[in-house]
Amino acid sequence: MSERSKLGFVDTVATAFLRRRLQSRRLRAAAVRGLTGISAGSGGLLQMDFDHAATPFAQVSPWLAAHTSEIGAAPAPPADPLGVPSLSIVVMVVGSRGDVQPFIPIARRLAERHRVRVATHREFRTMVEQAGLEFYPLGGNPHQLMEYIVKTGGSILPTRVDQLWEDVPNKRAMIAEILESTWRACTEADPERPAAQPFRADAIVANPPSYGHIHCAEALHIPLHMIFTMPWTATCAFPHPFAIIDPGTHHPVESFFSYGIVDLLVSAGIGDLVDAFRTKTLGLPAVALTDGAALLDDHEVPFTYLWPESLVPKPPEWGPHIELANFVQYAQAQAYEPPPALLDFLAAGEAPIYVGFGSVVAEDPAALTRTIFRALDKAGARGVVSRGWAHLGGEAPPPNVYLIDDCPHDWLFPRCRAVCHHGGAGTTAAGLHAGLPTVIVPFFGDQFFWGRIVADAGAGPEPIPIRRLDVEHLTAAFDACRRPQIRERATQLGALLRASDGAELAARSVERHLPALVMCCSTDPRHLAVVYCDTCGLRLCEACGREAHSGHVVRPCRYVDWGGRAPHGLFAELGGLMGDAALALQAGLAELLPSLGSEGDEPSRADRGGPVRRLRRWLTSR
Ligand SMILES: [Zn+2]
Ligand SMILES: [Zn+2]
Repeated sequence: MSERSKLGFVDTVATAFLRRRLQSRRLRAAAVRGLTGISAGSGGLLQMDFDHAATPFAQVSPWLAAHTSEIGAAPAPPADPLGVPSLSIVVMVVGSRGDVQPFIPIARRLAERHRVRVATHREFRTMVEQAGLEFYPLGGNPHQLMEYIVKTGGSILPTRVDQLWEDVPNKRAMIAEILESTWRACTEADPERPAAQPFRADAIVANPPSYGHIHCAEALHIPLHMIFTMPWTATCAFPHPFAIIDPGTHHPVESFFSYGIVDLLVSAGIGDLVDAFRTKTLGLPAVALTDGAALLDDHEVPFTYLWPESLVPKPPEWGPHIELANFVQYAQAQAYEPPPALLDFLAAGEAPIYVGFGSVVAEDPAALTRTIFRALDKAGARGVVSRGWAHLGGEAPPPNVYLIDDCPHDWLFPRCRAVCHHGGAGTTAAGLHAGLPTVIVPFFGDQFFWGRIVADAGAGPEPIPIRRLDVEHLTAAFDACRRPQIRERATQLGALLRASDGAELAARSVERHLPALVMCCSTDPRHLAVVYCDTCGLRLCEACGREAHSGHVVRPCRYVDWGGRAPHGLFAELGGLMGDAALALQAGLAELLPSLGSEGDEPSRADRGGPVRRLRRWLTSR
């Protein structure tokens, strides 16, 4: 390489590198500077208020537009991928039953070609093993976790400022336990099955709340693929599902910022636990607060979202490393034996409206039940009403209502003419899949997002947030489900959703993004390369390495180099240049802190390593 072309090369690499780093840091800095306050909004969401006059904020929109097109995105994966050898894949999922269920069909597809282990909470062992998959127990008490998930509005991530201060410290031990177990899930045999085979992951598939994913991938130098049911990647198209931004003054770029702000809050809340996990368990360097918030983005980790393009199109600023699949149906209908009374009820008249609020806890179940019964009556509709955790239907139901306990959605929904539910991703998917007009009554979290999406798609009326639910609104919504436009749109959408298999698309997306070139043995691409022969410059499987390369210098293979944050080399060279971005962010956080509570009123029970102190320490240490 000539001196000149070498310089050109370094210059290109440095520019590309710097732009990426600066983009993420400057955007976060601008977000925090433009933010005038974060408060707990309704439904446990984060209310974010922005100051439109703030200079960095005012300038960022065109800047963002210019740069997102300029910055080279990750290369698109080949449409017709090279085959990868058979791998050991760990699928890590933290969350409720509904969060875990879509991963089962995906894991089964992957298991056709690979050894697949699903690592999730203990109480889902039976569900995983009955699907013919290997299991590994992740840490944390699942019931405490479910309770916490309900409290945080459907997510294991803290979604409310007060939870960040109060609940997160209380749950920190559990989060540390989950982190520890993610490493064992990648490297150890199932501890509860004595005859279990040893396991070492060659690739990780994970949902974002499983925390340990990217750090384990970094320690093992293996690829990571994220899968999730709700948007987790910054976009101008819609705000973070846990954020509310006043629609009256909403600029699209605020939506973009809301992702960075949620990331920063989460990183502030658990960053020290993550650092302890990295340094003590994995032997990796700690990450800075701002870097920790952006690891998935900065590394352009491939991401597959489980909804169809026809419902929520892929935003233009998402690179080729992000793909949409489809909703994933977890089939249960075949094993279901309906009670005769239910069959009689269904046969006795017009198809009913399904009403159920899943696992959410209602404040006044009796009042909620009366509202549902009266609205069904006024709309002249029959209803199948799920008791659920909301304990609906304490009183005897009227003749137009049938009360059910557990009933698989894929059995029941095709026998209904409309559905009314809380808007959880899984239930929303099941209702739309069956082609039904959908009324969403969001309680918290991403349910508001799905309510919006369904109404915008024309497959249902405007969502009715639980605090606005009354007989009048609900009757009108039930009536709307008879409108031909809504019914036609729901039918069309159902046909579209049924035309593609979400689990198959997601599994193919995972395989397509694997770095096949570096995972195949040079002698035979069907073998998994495990060593690199320095003498010959070849990647080799164990057998080929042993046979033809004995006496050569070999070292273990690294499939992915996650070392973008090494303290030496390019990063150190450019560190000075990035100081201004860090300063901007620091200034932004300093402005943010007063609105989050001062030293004086900090609750004494907040733990000493809590987020406020962490933020302060981070600021004062600069
Ligand atoms: Zn060799
Ligand atoms: Zn080989």
